[in-house]
Amino acid sequence: MKKGIHPNYNVVNIVCTTCGNEFEGGSVMKEVRVDTCSNCHPFYTGKQKFAQADGRVERFNKRYGIKSEQE
Ligand SMILES: [Zn+2]
Repeated sequence: MKKGIHPNYNVVNIVCTTCGNEFEGGSVMKEVRVDTCSNCHPFYTGKQKFAQADGRVERFNKRYGIKSEQE
């Protein structure tokens, strides 16, 4: 691989913000945060403890800077 033409590809800690699970992955970023992972996603666990409609709307609002009345 020639130096200088590729972005730094690091082994990074990927942190799941839902269950706190950490696992290694490769990314050009130093740290990666994900909303869900294979450890807690309902598709894998069969549980529905966080993927509720209310939470999704709230997260959507936060992401786009819309203040909800609950805060
Ligand atoms: Zn997770």
